[in-house]
Amino acid sequence: MAIFEADFMKLYEQYPVFLTNSLSGEKEKLETLTPGFVGMYVCGPTVYNYVHLGNARTFLSFDIIARYLRFLGYKVRYVRNITDVGHLESDADEGEDKIGKKARLEQLEPMEIVKRYTEDFHTVMRQFNILPPSIEPSATGHIIEQINITKKLLESGLAYEVNGSVYFDVKKYNQSHHYGILSGRNIEELMESGRNLDSQDEKRDKVDFALWKKASPQHIMRWPSPWGEGFPGWHIECTVMSTKYLGETFDIHGGGMDLKFPHHECEIAQATGANGKVPVRYWIHGNMLTVNGQKMSKSLGNSFLPSELFSGNHPLLEKGYSPMTVRFFMLQSHYSSTLDFSNEALNAAEKGFKKLNNALSSVKKMTLTKDAANIELEKNLLDQVTRCFVNMSDDFNTAKTLAVLFEMATQINTWAAAKEIALTENVFDQFKSTYIAMMEDVLGLKEETGGNHELLNGTIQVLINLRKKVRADKNFVLSDKIRDDLKAIGIQLKDGKDGEMGYEIE
Ligand code: AMP
Ligand code: ZN
Repeated sequence: MAIFEADFMKLYEQYPVFLTNSLSGEKEKLETLTPGFVGMYVCGPTVYNYVHLGNARTFLSFDIIARYLRFLGYKVRYVRNITDVGHLESDADEGEDKIGKKARLEQLEPMEIVKRYTEDFHTVMRQFNILPPSIEPSATGHIIEQINITKKLLESGLAYEVNGSVYFDVKKYNQSHHYGILSGRNIEELMESGRNLDSQDEKRDKVDFALWKKASPQHIMRWPSPWGEGFPGWHIECTVMSTKYLGETFDIHGGGMDLKFPHHECEIAQATGANGKVPVRYWIHGNMLTVNGQKMSKSLGNSFLPSELFSGNHPLLEKGYSPMTVRFFMLQSHYSSTLDFSNEALNAAEKGFKKLNNALSSVKKMTLTKDAANIELEKNLLDQVTRCFVNMSDDFNTAKTLAVLFEMATQINTWAAAKEIALTENVFDQFKSTYIAMMEDVLGLKEETGGNHELLNGTIQVLINLRKKVRADKNFVLSDKIRDDLKAIGIQLKDGKDGEMGYEIE
């Protein structure tokens, strides 16, 4: 069937989406609450540090989902928050607030930390061509709502106050609901396992979690509340911001796999407890980017920054790669599979992307040379067009869609070599528009002009080395000039590990 055959039908009716719902573990047909509309919430970054490539993978996975749903004709309200308070060092309500700690160490206001890393996050999103969400709320902008829902949970008896902090009573909730429904954890086992932590003195059970925490005298981020000065817990912010903008029940909630427990499990419990409704219809979890099989993470010391990847300035990297090569690399695996980083895989991705990119440049310039039917070829071309949609509608399978785009690129190359295209016009138009749309609108693979990246990267490296030399010679005037002149044309130098320099193109 040709894709644009049924004009009266929305594309999402023609190619209904099936997605793996982490709640059921099954692939389910997407039936939205309001026909034609999708409400999607994704947990955003905690802005206390530069985002690493693993974080970027998760946001890329949801970018693809939002892009494809829109492409099918849905109106998508995509909410992705900024966590700027409440995320403690340990997910079990222990340790310092991540942002408060960084502010203390760097002797800055917490909001200076938040601004610096939110800007970095936005730069990285732009570099990877990850589109902004419809709404990007921040936790500190929703303190009143977080206090209100905490009051509601206290009134319903599902929360209790101890010494200026308020905790969610998991055991009580579990009497009438199922705590563990998403993660498959069992409350009895949870109560037995794990360490006894400091705030265990206050909690009735170690499975309980904080809705509101009393601020110690040295705690920087603090707000007045009915329970004294304090700050909200991490989980409650997402419940407040998702339901405020999407309703008490909404379609899709996403995040990285590592957020399933406790974060998302707690979100379900709080929202269900407070509103008496199941908050989310479909949960989607993106899998981890790994390095030698280990999750990429700042604390494990195996992470690298996108800017390091673009410049190649990192001990684990053989050279730099363009943002679209990296985007392509990540799209080659399904979002629900782990993806292991390696130089070999990136080198292969560079070649693969180049082929698709060249075909994209060619096809944009191509016109039909002869309007003549070619039944066998046309059947093939229309089949490729259809398979792009079928694969994307099958749980957003970017890997399989790329495989079809490679077939299409081979066809484009054949035409380019023959310098002749004899087809029925309508078929050629569908083929051409689908290739361009799948590449640019759905997969977000922007056309890159070949060769420039390596040349630019090499040039900047020359300048970085020159700057190192003049700094060693204590010629700080010249060293600052190199930095400032580069900044003026949108290239920002960044201090990396071991005195190495990276750069970022703004
Ligand atoms: P955070 O700023 O730590 O809250 O993380 C932001 C997002 O990145 C969350 O959805 C995490 O699940 C996700 N994330 C963290 N590490 C990785 C990784 N190695 N691979 C993929 N996603 C990750
Ligand atoms: Zn969240």
